[in-house]
Amino acid sequence: MASVKLTFLGTGTSHGVPCIDCMLTDYAACPQGVCRAAQQDARHSRTRCSVLVEAADRAILVDTSLDFRAQMLAQRVRQVDAVLFTHSHADHIGGLPDIRSYCRPGQALPIYGAQETITALTRRFDYIFNPPEIKGGGIPELATQVVRAGESFSLFGLEVTPARVEHGSTRECLGYRIGPIAYVPDVKVMPDEAKAIFSGVDVLVLNALRRAPEHPTHLTLEASVALAQELHPKVCYFTHLSHDIHYVHDQPSLPSNMDFAYDGLTVTIELPRIPRA
Ligand SMILES: [Zn+2]
Ligand SMILES: [Zn+2]
Repeated sequence: MASVKLTFLGTGTSHGVPCIDCMLTDYAACPQGVCRAAQQDARHSRTRCSVLVEAADRAILVDTSLDFRAQMLAQRVRQVDAVLFTHSHADHIGGLPDIRSYCRPGQALPIYGAQETITALTRRFDYIFNPPEIKGGGIPELATQVVRAGESFSLFGLEVTPARVEHGSTRECLGYRIGPIAYVPDVKVMPDEAKAIFSGVDVLVLNALRRAPEHPTHLTLEASVALAQELHPKVCYFTHLSHDIHYVHDQPSLPSNMDFAYDGLTVTIELPRIPRA
């Protein structure tokens, strides 16, 4: 039976957990003590959001987080064959320079994203996309591919469908359905078109920033649970978690098919094969 493996490389919000701000107050301002607890319980140690999806000996990375290098080393990731970008906020793209270790000479690594994201990447990393004539070492060779919401494409035998979601001032923030997985790390409002794409998946990954108060660009836990219930996945994992989510204390309040993700968590989904006579 063929399978798809999902690895959570990072599950933290843009500050990461523990966050520098809490350290600066000797953790006095940390709402649930999560930043201090992170020193004992690794499930509270959250690097910036990214996942790896592996199928048929190929590896699809979603976003190159600010913690990309540490994540690759922690999970001993041997290969990256394509990168999908959700949007261009710093926590999701900041690790792009280190992708060079996964580039093979003369073979540009494909990176996919909405036009807005690709434009932002090319501006932010001008030295990669408009390299100087005399190239030094270490410039990753990338091939950009613009994707459009609702338009599916095939990647290493998996059907990939981007869907636009509302997240702050971004106009084209995307979540992706990748085979049996829906990955939506940053969303405040999910339009109906996206709900249709993400409904009924085996594994839904959704952002849940904190319990309260409401946040202008991210779902809080209660709203994330409600949205997950509406989408009817087999299981749902919450990611993009701040230090306001305590893995041990908050988990019992979740529905039985939902849980918090943590860095290094892996989920394997077996795919049914069509029997051939
Ligand atoms: Zn804290
Ligand atoms: Zn984010």
